[in-house]
Amino acid sequence: MKILDAHTHLSGSETGETAKDIIACMDACDVDISFVYAPLLNVHSWELSDEHLQDIRLHNDYCSDLCSSYTDRLYGFCVLNPVPSLAGGSLERAVTLMTAEVRRCYHDLGLRGVKMVPTHWYPNAPELVPLYHEIAHLGMYVVFHAGIFMDGQQGSYCRPTYFEGIRQVPKLKVQLAHLGWPWVDEAIAVLNMESNIHGPDPANWQFRADVSFGPPDDWQLSSWQRAVDSLPPTALIYGSDLFWPTPPEEYQEKYLYPQRGLFEVSVTNGHITSEGSPTRKQMREQVFFQNALNHWNSAVHKPQRPQAAKEKITTSRARQSHRQHTGR
Ligand SMILES: [Zn+2]
Repeated sequence: MKILDAHTHLSGSETGETAKDIIACMDACDVDISFVYAPLLNVHSWELSDEHLQDIRLHNDYCSDLCSSYTDRLYGFCVLNPVPSLAGGSLERAVTLMTAEVRRCYHDLGLRGVKMVPTHWYPNAPELVPLYHEIAHLGMYVVFHAGIFMDGQQGSYCRPTYFEGIRQVPKLKVQLAHLGWPWVDEAIAVLNMESNIHGPDPANWQFRADVSFGPPDDWQLSSWQRAVDSLPPTALIYGSDLFWPTPPEEYQEKYLYPQRGLFEVSVTNGHITSEGSPTRKQMREQVFFQNALNHWNSAVHKPQRPQAAKEKITTSRARQSHRQHTGR
C-alpha cells in the first residue's frame, strides 16, 4: 500500500543530506508522498516584529530549497502568520504582509502548500478573508493547526468551530490538524456539515482532518472510533506530525504502526467494513493515501515547482527539537 503522510515538519537544523535521508525513510516505509512544513519560529508570537517577518521568509525559502530535488515526493508548505504584532498591532496590515508573502511563495518559490497556526488571531476574523481569497485564487492548499498547544501558546484560538468562518471562501481547501484534539467532538461536528453544505461529492468539500496526534493514550482509540463511526471515510487523512529526519524504524514504531492499529481496531469495532473485505482495503487506502491527495488536487491547479536556493540558508531562529514542538 502506498502512503501519503500529510503532516511532517522541518526543524530548520537539517543538513545538506536531509532530503536524501527523508526519501530513504519514506522508501523504507512505503511512504510515497510527504507534506513538508517549513520550520516554525522558535519565538512566541507576541515577540514577533518586522525582523521576524524576515525569518518567516527565510524559512519558506528553506522549505522550498529542501523540497526542490524531489518535487514529486516532497510537497512543500510555506508558513504564514498574520499575527498583528508583525505589523504594529494591525491585523489588517499583517494580513496584507502575508498576502504578499503567499504570492511570493507561489510565484517565486513554486510552493503550493500553506501551514498556519492561529495564535493571537482567530481564523474566523473578517480581516482574514482577503488572504483566504488570495490563497484559493492562487490554487494552494492550507493546513491549519487545530486544538491544544503543548508549548504554552493558547489553543483557544484554534477551536474547530472558529474554522467555520472559512466557509465564506468556499473554494479554500483546508486540512484541520490533530482532529482538533481535545475538541474532537467539535471537529467532527464541523466536518459532518461538509456534505450538507457542499453536497455528497468530496471533491467539493472544504474541510478534511488529519489524525496526527494529539490525544493522550487513553483517548486515542475513542477519538479514532468517534471519527470513523461518525464521518464519511473520505474525511480522514493520515499524518505523523514528526520532525525530519527520522530513521525508518522510528517512523514505523512511533507513527505508522500505531496509527494503522488504531485504524484497523476502530473500523472493526464500529462494524464499518469487515476484516479481509475489499471495502476495508479501500477505506485503508483512502485514509492513508487517497483522501489527502484528492483534497490536494482539488485545491492545486498547477503542480508545485519548489526552487533550489542560490546560496545556503541558515535558520537560526528555527525550533530545534521535536519535543519543543509536539502538538503543533
Ligand atoms: Zn505539527
